[in-house]
Amino acid sequence: MAKTKTTFFCQNCGAQSSKWIGKCPSCGEWNTYVEEVVQREEKAGKWQSMGASGRERKPQPVTEITFDTDQRIHTHDAELNRVLGGGLVPGSVVLIGGEPGIGKSTLMLQVALNCKGIKVLYISGEESEQQIRMRAERIGIKNTDCYILTETSTQIIFQHLEELRPGMVIIDSIQTLHTDNIDSSAGSISQIKETAAEMQRFSKITNTPVFLIGHITKDGSLAGPKILEHMVDTVLNFEGDRNYGYRILRAAKNRFGSTSELGIYEMQDTGLREVSNPSEILYPSAMKM
Ligand SMILES: [Zn+2]
Repeated sequence: MAKTKTTFFCQNCGAQSSKWIGKCPSCGEWNTYVEEVVQREEKAGKWQSMGASGRERKPQPVTEITFDTDQRIHTHDAELNRVLGGGLVPGSVVLIGGEPGIGKSTLMLQVALNCKGIKVLYISGEESEQQIRMRAERIGIKNTDCYILTETSTQIIFQHLEELRPGMVIIDSIQTLHTDNIDSSAGSISQIKETAAEMQRFSKITNTPVFLIGHITKDGSLAGPKILEHMVDTVLNFEGDRNYGYRILRAAKNRFGSTSELGIYEMQDTGLREVSNPSEILYPSAMKM
């Protein structure tokens, strides 16, 4: 049994300290430090052997390294492809942040259902299988390559990943994930950091793209997604007013493309419709003529 180790984390910005501090030196907030247990044993996931089927990791001349960005996955969502910089890069981790209820789950389930020919595993800690099935029925796309798993333990998730070997993974949401390597509760800073790091290692070693859905509250009180921004390859924000139909997808960070592209959607009963002609929002009356 390893010794219990704890660290203090600022719940606002994720800064850490070996002892409690009243004022965070990083973000300046007061009384934000909470002690979290970070005792961890290195239990290498079995999925690490999955990488061996691809290629062995050894030093190679820089000139012989191929660009995976040439083999981008086109997600059948033109808005998402554009915001990603021309499709999804294999082995990349994409964080989709937004307020609860804005439609992140709908967007990602729709992407999963549309990616025919790619085995997609949609892992949810937020909804039951039945709820997700109902949402899929509303979206109305049949895809037998889209798998649903309701699970929050990364150790169990990795067992399923090793068995199923999907070509794309969606986590809904990062705040529900839990790893045995750390004792603090799901949603705590140390859990979010560690589970995201585990998903990232899985993504890089197996070359599997991973979407992480992260909830952001209006007042920024949920620090989770913010502390992940430097860890992931791409950060997309899904924005809009819950009472109005339009949604905007924009990149706040993109290692594989620019951050100047926008994706526009309209929320409908059946899911999100891509708005390929933004002038219909600016001049709604023009569409009726
Ligand atoms: Zn702070």
